[in-house]
This record gives sequence, C-alpha cells and structure tokens, in this order.
Amino acid sequence: MPNTPLLARDLRSALAEKRVEVFYQPIFDLATWSPIALPVGVEALSRWRHRAVGDVPPSRFIQIAHDRGFLDEVDTHVVTTAGWQVGAWRTAGHEVGLSINAAAIHFLERADAPDYVEIVLAHLRALRIPPHLLTVEIIESPAPQFITEMADGLARLREAGIAISVDDFGAGDTTLEMLERLDVDEVKIDRSLIIREDAESDEIISAVVEVAHRRGMRVVAEGIETPAHLDKARRCGCDRGQGFLLARPMPAAGVDRLLAGLPLRDYSAG
Ligand code: C2E
Ligand code: MG
Ligand code: MG
Ligand code: MG
Repeated sequence: MPNTPLLARDLRSALAEKRVEVFYQPIFDLATWSPIALPVGVEALSRWRHRAVGDVPPSRFIQIAHDRGFLDEVDTHVVTTAGWQVGAWRTAGHEVGLSINAAAIHFLERADAPDYVEIVLAHLRALRIPPHLLTVEIIESPAPQFITEMADGLARLREAGIAISVDDFGAGDTTLEMLERLDVDEVKIDRSLIIREDAESDEIISAVVEVAHRRGMRVVAEGIETPAHLDKARRCGCDRGQGFLLARPMPAAGVDRLLAGLPLRDYSAG
C-alpha cells in the first residue's frame, strides 16, 4: 500500500474523475425479515479501487480524507450519486430510504468549506426526494461537546424532516445517559455488541432499546452475520437490521435485482 500522502493525492484525483463508487447495503425491518423480504432502506458506503494497488478499505481512505480536510468532498459525491439513485428507484415505484454517513466536522463552521447541510437540502430538493426518506448517520462518538457544537446543523436537518442517527453506538465510550440527552431519531448498535455471546451484552442492548423506544427513536442492529446474531437482535427488541447474513453492500444494480425480486448474485467481495 502506498504511503498516506500518495494515497491522499490519488484519492483526490479519483474524486475529481468520479472514480469513487457508491455501494448500497440493504437495511431490513426485523419483524418481517425473510430471505425474500424487500429492504426498507439502504446505507450508502464508499468504495475506492486504486489503479495500482486495488481496493483500499474505507476505514483507511475515509480517515485520510477526514484528517486532510476533504471528507466533505467524498460525502458530497455520495449525496449526489446515492440521491440520484434513490430518486430513480422512486420513479420505478420503490420507496427506499437512504442512509448516508457524515462526520462531526461537516457540521462545524469552516470558512473554507461549503455548508454541508445546505448541500444535502439542495440535492433533496433538486431530486424531489421527500426528506423523510433520508437518514444522516453521525459516525463519530457523540461526545457531549461535539453534540453542542453540531446542534445547529443537526437541528436544520431535523426541521427539514431528515432523520439523524448515531452510528456505532456502544463501540466507544457512549453511555445510556448520553442517549437520554441526545435529540436524535435512530441509534445503530455497533457490531461488536451484536456478535458478543454473553448475557451482559443482551442486557446492554435491551437497555439501549428501552431508552431509545421511550424517547421515540428506532434501533438498528449492525453486523448481523449469523442466524444467532439475528436472533439476538430480535430478542433484544431492535427494529431494523443490517449485515452480511441479510445482504452485503452491493452496487446499485444489485439493489435493482433485489427490488425486482430476482435472486442476487454473489457480492461477497463487497
Ligand atoms: P459504518 O457506517 O458503521 O458502516 C458499516 C460497515 O460495516 C461497512 O463497512 C459495512 O461494509 C460493514 N458491514 C456490514 N455488515 C457487516 C457484517 O455483517 N459483518 C461485518 N464484519 N461488517 C459488516 P465499510 O463499508 O468498510 O465502511 C467502514 C466505515 O467507513 C463505515 O462504518 C463508515 O463509518 C465509514 N464510511 C464508509 N463509507 C463512507 C462515506 O461515504 N462517508 C463517510 N463519511 N464515511 C464512510
Ligand atoms: Mg454508517
Ligand atoms: Mg455503523
Ligand atoms: Mg460500525
């Protein structure tokens, strides 16, 4: 793998040439999930194939873009591409929700960066996508000072009818108390909790679900890879689920097949 400055340079040109792809991982309603169920939504996930070294994992290139201050360019590309795609599915008669990832820095005021919230709202308007179809997942641990700084931007999205989600809940030092105070619509339980096999993790997830439901939030279980994970997510009361057992991240053409009720090809590389 080339070093970070070289990757950063190549990522910038890949973005300029629109060579960063968007994959979609279906999200299902757990109460009704079966192998032929249709997804309630999809999460947009970036994919970058470097010309010389092949696939670069998002954990690597998202971090690089974040640290070098151009993650907003990646995420603007995702909003444009995925927004267009969801509009096309709607035109074809499929109401598919769209979840996009956003970093806390998108919501901090920066003189040198365009206004992320305005970009998102403008795209929804231009594509005529109803705001209730969009969920913005905040990928950083919601430390209290972050939330305060982000409050303005998040409020503008929520006023427009867009749902806010806290991603990877339970992976860092997030607490139940935080959940009591956050004004969000959705919590995504991190995969690390879903794959644990002890009784304590059941108790933690159930407690998160209890607080979330009391506050009118929905709960999504991430990283469901086995029937045991699926059982656990259901047993603990999660509303929605996502994971390789249900469907892998796939190109838009894969979602087309899913929506048409056709068997999926093997997306194990996604
Ligand atoms: P995330 O938002 O928590 O996304 C879910 C990650 O879990 C994805 O990894 C997905 O491929 C993976 N995953 C889904 N189901 C399973 C499963 O059953 N088992 C396992 N082991 N993994 C599963 P991915 O695509 O590599 O992305 C990693 C992270 O990078 C994302 O985590 C998100 O934080 C960030 N990311 C990806 N694309 C974007 C983007 O376009 N913009 C921003 N800001 N962040 C992104
Ligand atoms: Mg996410
Ligand atoms: Mg997540
Ligand atoms: Mg995660």
